[in-house]
Amino acid sequence: MRRAFVYGYPVGHSLSPAIHNAAFRAAGLHVEYAVREVAPPALAAAVADLRAEDVLGTNVTVPHKVAVLDLVDEVDAVARTVGAANTIHNRGGRLWATNTDVGGFARSLERAHFAVEGVSALLLGAGGAARGVAYALLDGGARRLLIANRTVQRAERLAAEMGGLFPALEVKPSGLDSLTGDELRGCDLVVNSTSLGMSEDRSPLDPSRLSPRARVIDIIYAPARTLLLRRAEAAGLRTLNGLPMLVEQAALAWEIWTGRVAPIEVMFEAAEAALRRRETERAAS
Ligand code: NAP
Repeated sequence: MRRAFVYGYPVGHSLSPAIHNAAFRAAGLHVEYAVREVAPPALAAAVADLRAEDVLGTNVTVPHKVAVLDLVDEVDAVARTVGAANTIHNRGGRLWATNTDVGGFARSLERAHFAVEGVSALLLGAGGAARGVAYALLDGGARRLLIANRTVQRAERLAAEMGGLFPALEVKPSGLDSLTGDELRGCDLVVNSTSLGMSEDRSPLDPSRLSPRARVIDIIYAPARTLLLRRAEAAGLRTLNGLPMLVEQAALAWEIWTGRVAPIEVMFEAAEAALRRRETERAAS
């Protein structure tokens, strides 16, 4: 039996064990994927444990995505550029890190047939997840990117950094509350990467101010339909939630660890079933 993990703190509600274990079972691989709650002072020792022969690797989640970069032997170009890793692969005792959130987000848009090439995009948020999304949008060929955040200084920093990486493209910052009607109507693709809408039924913007052609993505997956997505649907806009991104980033990590094509439909079913179980437990408590 080989082992794989997700390292985080806290990490109890992660859907990753359900998604990965279903995929290992479906592929007939004897791998057990487990949650490991790692407090920040214990991170270096926990990463060193990944060098063991029976360990495939780990996923890394909040708050360790940046700190692991200094604890592995090699960081690939995407993780280095984004400044965060979510996947570590044990390659014969040497640890290699990458960021599959970027590819996972890109694949989720492809799956939904949401084009990125040539679009004018609005990204809400400038936290950890926003970095990967911004990179995926610009790398995917977005023509313009407006980054709007409650704390405008964080939007300014992220826009300057991304503008430096993609000097031919237009990357601008904004406050979340200071977006103008013209800016909103000019967007083809809107991505919410703030956490607003996750624990409270609130929306970071009013989608009725967007163009009818705009597509609205919320990378939150629980609840499945945030207030932003419900309002966007009510305004007749096409929407996508964060579940495909979650499953696609898992599939990319799984493929890195196993060298096989991930059983993506099995992974989607496992994620949906785990979310339903979580909802039932929540309703019962
Ligand atoms: P983070 O680093 O803590 O960033 C949080 C972001 O939300 C910041 O931009 C913050 O703005 C903004 N925000 C928080 N509360 C707000 C409020 N009341 N009003 C306006 N803005 C607010 O978190 P993260 O890791 O980027 O995660 C963000 C969300 O993405 C979470 O809901 C997470 O579940 C989701 N996510 C989904 C996936 C997936 O696979 N689908 C992957 C990663 C993350 P300030 O800078 O002003 O504080």
